[in-house]
Amino acid sequence: MTQTSQPVASHFISGQYVEDDAGARIDVIYAATGEKIAHVHAATPAIVEQALAAAKAAQPAWAALTGTERGRILRRAADIIRARNRELSELETLDTGKPLQETLVADATSGADALEYFGGLAASLTGEYIPQPGGDFVYTIRQALGVCVGIGAWNYPTQIACWKAAPALACGNTMVFKPSETTPLCALRIAEILTEAGAPPGVFNVVQGMGEVGAALTTDPRVAKVSLTGSVPTGRKVYAAVAAEMKHVTMELGGKSPLIVFDDADLDNAVSGAILGNFYSTGQVCSNGTRVFVQKGIKEAFLERLAERLDHAVIGDPLDEETNFGPMVSEAQLAIVERYIAQGIEEGARLAYGGKRVIRPGNFIQPTVFADVTDAMTIAREEIFGPVMAVLDFEDEEEAVTRANDTEFGLAGGVFTQDLTRAHRVVASLEAGTCYINHYNLAPVEAPFGGVKASGVGRENSKEAIHHYSEVKSVYVAMNDVEAPF
Ligand code: NAD
Repeated sequence: MTQTSQPVASHFISGQYVEDDAGARIDVIYAATGEKIAHVHAATPAIVEQALAAAKAAQPAWAALTGTERGRILRRAADIIRARNRELSELETLDTGKPLQETLVADATSGADALEYFGGLAASLTGEYIPQPGGDFVYTIRQALGVCVGIGAWNYPTQIACWKAAPALACGNTMVFKPSETTPLCALRIAEILTEAGAPPGVFNVVQGMGEVGAALTTDPRVAKVSLTGSVPTGRKVYAAVAAEMKHVTMELGGKSPLIVFDDADLDNAVSGAILGNFYSTGQVCSNGTRVFVQKGIKEAFLERLAERLDHAVIGDPLDEETNFGPMVSEAQLAIVERYIAQGIEEGARLAYGGKRVIRPGNFIQPTVFADVTDAMTIAREEIFGPVMAVLDFEDEEEAVTRANDTEFGLAGGVFTQDLTRAHRVVASLEAGTCYINHYNLAPVEAPFGGVKASGVGRENSKEAIHHYSEVKSVYVAMNDVEAPF
């Protein structure tokens, strides 16, 4: 295991691996065993400088290629990722602890989708012609921003790197990407693959480190844009730090999203949606619908069906393809989840399922369901980022929507009902950037993804992302003499 997961070196700059072992050592721990599987060193100021200088130097020539040329490289990278899906999925599992059953279909594949989608779009990123009176006209030029910094969370290291790199590079930007210190391995492999696909040196660089490396990158004057995937507290810090220089930002932050199940819903589908929205990736998904509002009449039936289904969770070795529920990413995250479970019990919620550590090596905890949760309880207000579902009862639609919106977050929201008009009415009222009707947590690259309120700024994926990685220059062209007042 050690041989396959130890990277050649910690950083990837100008098309090659770079090391500076003066940087603090960061051990990579396999979440399923507690075993050390690799290490990297945090970027020193010299490494940060090297990466930013490389990205800055590479940007004009990269932007000067045609969109077709840039797109071809991104699409070639997508093909390489697909061809190496198993190897990349295994690395994702080692980096995060997520079951291979998931990573084989959700991570490298989603990264490849992004590279393919934005690779396809790159050639069509054109300006507009805007006619004016007397034959004058305005045209617009869609321009790259310059050097972009991407900063990742630990739950989807391959996907996050690709979701940021693909639109950034398609628009003619270059990028310095800092993965989470908890999962430093996957982004390096993406940098290797982009280089193999033909990305010139400096176009996509990876540097490792903790928050201070992220802070050094984001505040550098050469950086035009920062795209962060992380928690709301980190988002507030990064947003404030870059505001002074008016940099562009995308903030993909946390959530405490509502999933509303009406009594006319197809119960099995609703239970499936709640499972996907709480227990996929062991609950470590930003858009999870962790406040499940269930209409009173079906509450007990819902809880019963849910418990039956959870009995079928296969908890174990994530590299075994039968396993569908893995460990928490780290001991620290496990401790946070255990604290929230204890708090749920203390504050009077009913522990309806799970709640205990699984006795085996690694950071395993059972899928956990609390019933009789009320809005003021900590487990209904704060993002836990683990497999803990809070089930809350409600009487009617208006009450459900009001309570669903009573949160600082606004990432996602879902509704299960057979009533078409109600479904559309409810999602129209939800204060959330990404909504689902009769499903949960799908994130196709063709659709915008992102949050409102404290959950974020900007959108990833879809044509929307182009607006966040480019800006428009407007050029007025006069075809007539200039009339001046004197
Ligand atoms: P985190 O906020 O602790 O860290 C995120 C990243 O920011 C890490 O790479 C970290 O090193 C870096 N960072 C920390 N302080 C910084 C600073 N001052 N300046 C620059 N960078 C800094 O988040 P996490 O614990 O890694 O991930 C979990 C969080 O991410 C959850 O809140 C989850 O909801 C969120 N998330 C959001 C999305 C989304 O798309 N909306 C996706 C995945 C995860």
